[in-house]
Amino acid sequence: METWLNLIGGKSVPARDGRTYEHVCPSDGRPFATAPRSGATDVDDAVRAARAAFEGAWGRTPAVERGRLLLKLSEAIRREAERLAALEAKDTGKPMKQARADIAVTARYFEFYAGAADKLHGDTIPFLEGYTVLTLREPYGVTAHIVPWNYPAQIFARSVAASLAAGNACVVKPGEEAGLSIVAMAELAREVGFPDGALNVVHGIGEEAGAALAAHPDIDHLSFTGSPEVGTLVQAAAAKNHVGCTLELGGKSPQVIFADADLESCLPTVVTAITQNAGQTCSAGSRVLVERRAYEEVVGRLAERFAQVRVGTHEMDLDMGALVSETQRKRVQGYIDAALADGIPVLAKGRLEPGLPAGGFYVQPVLFGPVPRANRLACEEVFGPVLAVLPFEDEADAIRLANGTPYGLVAGVWTRDLGRGMRLARAIRTGQVFLNAYGAGGGVELPFGGFKHSGHGREKGFEALYGFTAVKTVVVRH
Ligand code: NAD
Repeated sequence: METWLNLIGGKSVPARDGRTYEHVCPSDGRPFATAPRSGATDVDDAVRAARAAFEGAWGRTPAVERGRLLLKLSEAIRREAERLAALEAKDTGKPMKQARADIAVTARYFEFYAGAADKLHGDTIPFLEGYTVLTLREPYGVTAHIVPWNYPAQIFARSVAASLAAGNACVVKPGEEAGLSIVAMAELAREVGFPDGALNVVHGIGEEAGAALAAHPDIDHLSFTGSPEVGTLVQAAAAKNHVGCTLELGGKSPQVIFADADLESCLPTVVTAITQNAGQTCSAGSRVLVERRAYEEVVGRLAERFAQVRVGTHEMDLDMGALVSETQRKRVQGYIDAALADGIPVLAKGRLEPGLPAGGFYVQPVLFGPVPRANRLACEEVFGPVLAVLPFEDEADAIRLANGTPYGLVAGVWTRDLGRGMRLARAIRTGQVFLNAYGAGGGVELPFGGFKHSGHGREKGFEALYGFTAVKTVVVRH
């Protein structure tokens, strides 16, 4: 059994009361590590350490030096990529190739924000005669990052790299089901020379450590990725302390396929966008909307591809692994069972490899269609490998349907008519729209975030840096 610790003020420490909880490998359902079950006191220690760093050595570190440290961390992650990927795969159940890709993107986040750290600056503003006005982009101070279990390394990097580049000190709470790679990378940050307290990690249960962090009165900004229900609690906690928060709460992202689409390039992407990470991706393309006159052809060819998806352990390294936990497995299976009970036709199923460990949290991927528009499968986030196909009549109907859920995170539009593609890009209310492409989770440089119930605030790209800074206006009369 591996033993993992918190990282607070540059020191690896257990929870003060010594409590721990187990991390279970989803591929076989067996515990393989323990992490501290932190409480409010541990969270308070971490916030104090971050505050001391912000007011001390880290706060005095110039932007160019912050950039150099972030670059060193990116290089250290690349050096340790295989070890980190193996840990991430065991912790989440995802196939090794997916974990390797995640760690590569994680290193890229630190590299991107390393380059951006000393290119973030304010403006001068024309004002009255005899005045000079300038704006400064200042870090908030101490930022809290509540990270989910689906892409621990990547989601940690996308918010922490930007926050550190902007000059904040960070406290991170990984998801309790998976997230050991986060503290492994925070240890690398210590090794490459980040001042103590600049980056702190406290493990624990959401209702305990997570709630204590969200409510802590000395946090200046919160970044949360996870469920809409917990997002509401985090936002309410932020409101009590009058601080801002960035919320990324998932989606029901549509892939809109017109009859003129290039199916050779479209269909493999559509299958990957729902089976990647076993569908546990906030931006999973979980609805396929197909123009009615091409419905039979598209669905026939999609079903053929979908039936080829193979599910195995993280070490077998196939297309898909287990779900993260028994709770998630039951939840996703519940959606599948309900759809079957509703009489929705099954178009295809993926394949579970023979001989999978009995204790693993496996779900057989399912392609359903046509799904009635009012069915749960057409509008609720399943967070599993379940793809719903719905026909549409024309362009106006496609837009209505694409916008017809409470979510608005990502959309894919597949058509050879660029004019139509652009009209849809404007009309669909999502934070990202891909034309003839789809990038679930990809694109370090590309601003990302939600409309409607998918949340607010933007991560990735330069937008994230704006989100982790406040503008101060300085007015000089001379
Ligand atoms: P969650 O929202 O419960 O957990 C996300 C993070 O919040 C974890 O670190 C968790 O420990 C923490 N947390 C939980 N309760 C908290 C509280 N009261 N105060 C502060 N922090 C708290 O998500 P989950 O249980 O892991 O998954 C449930 C559903 O959420 C999924 O089925 C899926 O629909 C959605 N989800 C979305 C994303 C996404 O990327 N948008 C990621 C994970 C889960």
